[in-house]
Amino acid sequence: MLCPNCESPHIVKNGRTHSGKQNFKCQDCDRQFVLEPQHQPISHETRQLVDELLFTNVPLLTIVEITNVSERWLRYYLENRMNRRSPVQSRNRMASSKHRMKVLM
Ligand SMILES: [Zn+2]
Repeated sequence: MLCPNCESPHIVKNGRTHSGKQNFKCQDCDRQFVLEPQHQPISHETRQLVDELLFTNVPLLTIVEITNVSERWLRYYLENRMNRRSPVQSRNRMASSKHRMKVLM
């Protein structure tokens, strides 16, 4: 693992983020970072799978586990989809906002 800023290998663990992800810190440039899966492009196949799972009202966390997308990406994706509204999306909107409240608490 290398620092995303200066590519130094001198990385130390630096606690966890509020979402429970491992946080790292570079000892050379002091940059803090989290290994973010959403920095990898989400494939079209994965998006299709997410769409299918959303359609069957699978819980968001289950979709995260199945598709390996990040929860943050999924919520972002869901919000974008909800802007193109459809009857199915309004059900997901409720589930999503409930979920968001839980996260904020
Ligand atoms: Zn660095």
